[in-house]
Amino acid sequence: MVNRIFEKALTLANGRRIPQLGFGTYCIPEEQTAEAVNAAIETGYRHIDTAQAYGNEHGAAEGLRRSGLKREEIFVTSKVMAEYKSYGQAVDSIRESLRVSGLEYFDLMLIHCPQPWDEYGSEYRYPEENRAVWKALEEAYEAGKVRAIGISNFSVWDIDSLLQTAKVVPMVNQFACFAGYTDLELIKKCFDCGILPEAHSPLGHGDVFGNGRLKEIADRYGVTVAQLCVRYTLQLGMISIPKSLRRERMAENADVDFVISEEDMDLLKRM
Ligand code: NDP
Repeated sequence: MVNRIFEKALTLANGRRIPQLGFGTYCIPEEQTAEAVNAAIETGYRHIDTAQAYGNEHGAAEGLRRSGLKREEIFVTSKVMAEYKSYGQAVDSIRESLRVSGLEYFDLMLIHCPQPWDEYGSEYRYPEENRAVWKALEEAYEAGKVRAIGISNFSVWDIDSLLQTAKVVPMVNQFACFAGYTDLELIKKCFDCGILPEAHSPLGHGDVFGNGRLKEIADRYGVTVAQLCVRYTLQLGMISIPKSLRRERMAENADVDFVISEEDMDLLKRM
């Protein structure tokens, strides 16, 4: 039976469509990525999330090529390293991502994080540097090397700071969101600005599975905790990109054609 969830797409501010459910590839070693991505595509996923920092852009693109599908049938996201905070580094890194992957374009390129990872959460938020990196993304967008551009892990403050000089409003903000960790203010801010919010780590990087309350709710719907959590992020109106190396879990995470009641959504938001 066709899983309709794979056909569900959201519209970016520039009119392009992004499949709402994608496949995450964080922590998948390069040598396993082509196989994993190919398996995800065989399962029905049409949206793959990679990053310069994951070191698996080549594997992700190779999985796509192996599938035999046309390039335009798969949406591929990558991200400029959090540590690259100058215009030149960003320009070079996008060129390198295209070279390494062998792709003619990415569907979406994000700034991975407003701060280098070893300064994550510190006071200095790199406002000028992110504007310079954003200019590089805008130029890559105008040149057609990337078909959409966005940000990741940006706070409300980071968004406002970037918007002061941005010519193109970011089309996506990818940040952590899962049952038990929901930043409703940030989600609202994104929607208010025309930025699609995207949930990374919708399974809490695996942490949701030990939560008894989530299990209770999932049991009421006759679904697994993973399915409840993926469905939760989709029902928030977000793009969601669960990762699994296992074929049966790839299928499980996409088998989410059920509806969480408003009451339970409120419960999950407050957890
Ligand atoms: P997820 O929240 O997707 O959880 C993945 C973990 O859950 C893995 O350990 C996986 O194990 C396990 N898992 C997956 N499905 C199931 C299931 N049905 N039942 C039981 N266990 C399951 O974690 P990620 O942190 O990987 O986030 C998803 C994606 O988001 C990343 O892969 C990446 O693409 C993106 N991301 C982006 C970040 C950013 O800064 N922009 C940061 C973090 C992630 P197994 O593989 O063995 O199945």
